[in-house]
Amino acid sequence: KEPPCECNNCYTGKDCSVFLSDCPVNANSGDPLFLEPFWMQQAEGSAALVSGWHRMSYIYQDGTYISEELVKVIRKLHSVVGNAVTDNRFVIFGTGSTQLLAAAVHALSLRNSSSSTPARLLTSVPFYNLYKDQAEFFDSSHLKFEGDAFAWKNSERNDNTKQVIEIVTSPNNPDGKPKTAVLEGPNVKTIHDYAYYWPYFSPITVPADEDLSLFSLSKTTGHAGSRFGWGLVKDKAVYEEMKRYITLSSMGVSKTTQLHVLQLLKVVVRDGGDNIFHFGHETLKKRWEALHKVFSMSTRFLLQKIKPEYCNYFKKVRDFTPSYAWVKCERPEDTNCYEIFKAAKITGRDGKVFGSEERFVRLSLIRSQDDFDHLIDMLKKLVSQKAVEA
Ligand code: PMP
Repeated sequence: KEPPCECNNCYTGKDCSVFLSDCPVNANSGDPLFLEPFWMQQAEGSAALVSGWHRMSYIYQDGTYISEELVKVIRKLHSVVGNAVTDNRFVIFGTGSTQLLAAAVHALSLRNSSSSTPARLLTSVPFYNLYKDQAEFFDSSHLKFEGDAFAWKNSERNDNTKQVIEIVTSPNNPDGKPKTAVLEGPNVKTIHDYAYYWPYFSPITVPADEDLSLFSLSKTTGHAGSRFGWGLVKDKAVYEEMKRYITLSSMGVSKTTQLHVLQLLKVVVRDGGDNIFHFGHETLKKRWEALHKVFSMSTRFLLQKIKPEYCNYFKKVRDFTPSYAWVKCERPEDTNCYEIFKAAKITGRDGKVFGSEERFVRLSLIRSQDDFDHLIDMLKKLVSQKAVEA
């Protein structure tokens, strides 16, 4: 029976309250709504009220686009979590780490010593697709996306004289594994994307102490829609060039957003992050337990495995609890994993998008609890249906 037209297509009935259990589930985007229940408990303390006449100027009183108070809270946040060294680092803000990635790649490609050939942008497979998409879209004469860092390392074209920029995503998107740089040498510059280096997803093993590290509010507090990210930059010239990029593309980050982020991070650091990181980690731990239980009923699909490590934040050895399941379809005939899940009404993201094979699909685990419960129901159906057929 068709649902009434005013209901969202997963619901039916007179008041749209009847859930259609075979409705397709969205496990595609990494919208971090798993933290929404935490913020519901913090409705008052996290709210920011902005009167019409407040924050109208482009700049702050010190003439910059950056709130110094927010910089202080960010430094405090890293010190309580222990995930990054902020001493002797410039702090830069962006409209999401998306803008900072473009700024960082731009800044490092301009510092190319060999001006006749563009700098090569590399990252190891599987990688977050934005790196490639941005480089190809901006199509700069200073930069060329070259794909897999391992392949480059062993290729004949790697004569160690070409300027190379490697993006290291740790823990990685899509597979949640910790990563280290593949390339080294005087012509290699590295950008570390630490969007997921928070206790929800990963043991905090060491404070990141890199030249250029990027963080995203989307995966820190879950406020993806606020479009805020920050970078820790060691080299002043690189910082200045990134700042020029941010200034020319958006004249800094919305001051209203900066106020909102300040309120949110003050709540996070108030108790050393105990509440939010505990809540978020427990949520993901339970989700991973449910996921393992379903996949243990099948030999057709394989989940990624990551060795537990000691977490300096929780002071114990713990499992990784990544944002995404990186699923491999094991049967030789299951060549396109995305399509197999799609046919079972589970929309993930094709492994090919991440520079990997179609035999992999990524499923998002950080969406709302309703989305996750629905995902588990649909996975149970997929797994049991195939067990019967086999
Ligand atoms: N880096 C990685 C690895 C990501 O997964 C994402 C978003 N999913 C980003 C950067 C971009 O995040 P933001 O929302 O801050 O632009």
